Amino acid sequence: MITANIHKINQEIGVHARLIAVSKTKPLEMLQEAYQGGQRIFGENKVQELVQKYEALPKDIEWHLIGHLQSNKVKYIAPFVAMIHGVDSYKLLENINKEGAKNQRVIPCLLQIFIAQEETKFGLNPDELYSLLEQLNQTPLPYVQIGGLMGMASNVADATQVSNEFKGLKNLFDKVKSQYFDHQASFKEISMGMSGDYPLAIKEGATLVRVGSLIFGER
Ligand SMILES: *Cc1c(COP(=O)(O)O)cnc(C)c1O
Repeated sequence: MITANIHKINQEIGVHARLIAVSKTKPLEMLQEAYQGGQRIFGENKVQELVQKYEALPKDIEWHLIGHLQSNKVKYIAPFVAMIHGVDSYKLLENINKEGAKNQRVIPCLLQIFIAQEETKFGLNPDELYSLLEQLNQTPLPYVQIGGLMGMASNVADATQVSNEFKGLKNLFDKVKSQYFDHQASFKEISMGMSGDYPLAIKEGATLVRVGSLIFGER
């Protein structure tokens, strides 16, 4: 089932985006099944669970942390994490930079943008994003690579609203790309879309979609 689900989603998203299989709360056997079906990119939202699964599973898996990250936990994932989505402060970037330096690796990060209408705790608004980028210009962090932007749309049935939120993130990405990362090929990711809305996200330009329950079942 899991392999069939992944295959079906991959056919839908085509070549423009990559699928992150969001395996949070799911047992190792399910991840192994996905791995045997060819899946190599997994997303988790808790540091401890991410570390445990990393240790137990094959080392060619690309692990993405998709949830909120506390500064004091960066050290546990810095040696291996492929990408940290959901970064929303310079202070956290400083910490990631410090741990990257210790491990002699540049850690790819996505800046989380607040795009939903509903109130959530996480994500930058455009003003906050620009001031963070200015701060980065003034004090660059060599062990951090800003790989793009990430966002979560409102959890509503209104497809027009969800599409507009994704459009907003894509527009912001294009602006930031031309103003700050024009010659940096590594600024290329727009991480948006989950089980309920990834087809809309793909249409609006997602390069990474984060799909959990549609692959592994409800949590
Ligand atoms: C859990 C989670 C997902 C996947 O959600 P599904 O609805 O199960 O696909 C995607 N992104 C983030 C940030 C998540 O926490």
